Amino acid sequence: MSLDVSMMRHLSQDEFRVLTAVEMGMRNHAFVPLPLLSSLASVRSGLYKALRALMRHRLVARDVSSYEGFRLTNKGYDVLALRALSKRGVVAAMGNKLGVGKESDVYLAEAPDGSTLVVKLHRLGRQSFRAVRSKRDYLQHKTAGNWLYLSRLAAMREYAFMRALYSQNFAVPVPKDQNRHVVVMSLAPGYPMYQVRAGEMGHPERVFRSCLDIAVKLARHGLIHCDLNEFNLIVDNDLNVILIDFPQMVSVSHRNAEELFNRDVRGIAKYFRMKQRLEVTDLDLPQLPDILREVEELRARSALASATPADDPEATGDDETSAPAFLPAEAEDVADEIALDDQGGGLGLELDTPLDCGPNLEEVGLECPVRLDVKVKASGFTDEDEELLRQAIAQPPETEIMEASEVDAVYELRRGRRGGSRRHAQAKGNAGSSRAKPNSAKGRLKGRVVHREKVDKYYDDSW
Ligand code: ADP
Ligand code: MG
Repeated sequence: MSLDVSMMRHLSQDEFRVLTAVEMGMRNHAFVPLPLLSSLASVRSGLYKALRALMRHRLVARDVSSYEGFRLTNKGYDVLALRALSKRGVVAAMGNKLGVGKESDVYLAEAPDGSTLVVKLHRLGRQSFRAVRSKRDYLQHKTAGNWLYLSRLAAMREYAFMRALYSQNFAVPVPKDQNRHVVVMSLAPGYPMYQVRAGEMGHPERVFRSCLDIAVKLARHGLIHCDLNEFNLIVDNDLNVILIDFPQMVSVSHRNAEELFNRDVRGIAKYFRMKQRLEVTDLDLPQLPDILREVEELRARSALASATPADDPEATGDDETSAPAFLPAEAEDVADEIALDDQGGGLGLELDTPLDCGPNLEEVGLECPVRLDVKVKASGFTDEDEELLRQAIAQPPETEIMEASEVDAVYELRRGRRGGSRRHAQAKGNAGSSRAKPNSAKGRLKGRVVHREKVDKYYDDSW
């Protein structure tokens, strides 16, 4: 089944403008009141027509339980992201569904040059958020459009990790782009490991070794995958293993790091034992403290080797450069290398810039792993974001609600309830309505100009 976004080609400029306005309004409202929408979209006369078209295509849904308001559907959010990616020249066409993950839909797609891409649409959150929300004030404006926020956060994290891992030559898909809740990457050739039956793998012991090597290499770079299993590993015909799916990775400095690492490697061992009939015991598995110690030693040795001949080798222990790699590094040190724009759009992890890993290791012939956890952390994800994401991932998303009522809504809109709905919204005293009800013609015009600029900015490719 393909993701039917063919209507994208037929949507008018105004319809996109209104769709974008619904997204903007959802920062503060679960359902965006009609007057606010009118003000944000600043389409002169075609608001109803545009909303009708958007509802017909199931891109927005309407609710009148307390006031007349509109929200994006999953499909509406998909269209906004895919349109941005298509305007940027990243995705030219959408293809069949490739896989269904726990928290995502994954599709094949085509780039303008005809090459195959994978488009992953993150779907996180409504249900889980409510429970979290009651305990947390800091969310504030993030609550109304929470599933938008969470899904986008997951995509941003996944993309940031993919770029960081790719820069360090991990076998991961090539990161192509990210917009809103969508990550675009290359297709990993091969089969998800859970689809490979016993006897089909040829050399399961080699694949098992590769899987453990991935866990070890990640840990050496300061990361634990946390969902390293046969669903997130792809094996090709030459038995190369490719890692996918990493919004949930954590740092080796996490308080449960060892437990999480053990869960990952034991899970892999269990799969090979049960499904590939390989004789492995948990005693053969790598241990996180050993890996971290090794890295520290490596760092110390490299510092020693890079010390000038004049230096007293005994004294290098006190030297700044000999600090073990796994001393907690300050995120601020690298923060300016990685820019997160205020919309959470571009994570400018500069792959061309060599990442700082202490002394010149090429000279000393040692490989010193870069602390990727610190790099990604520095790109603007708070601990609360991380926690929120983990909780949301732990729970299945709710299915789309209110699809049935959309048909009625189209009918009602045709009858035109403009006056009534505006009164409704104002009576509720919505936060956004101060903007939405300018009294004078001048005020109205002014509001329109401002919002038109805002909406245009939203369309902008940089988002
Ligand atoms: P989730 O986070 O929802 O588990 P995944 O990233 O694991 O999503 O993707 C779900 C499925 O889609 C995977 O099990 C895999 O079969 C397929 N898939 C995802 N990304 C790729 C890719 N880059 N190349 C090939 N298959 C992929
Ligand atoms: Mg997965």
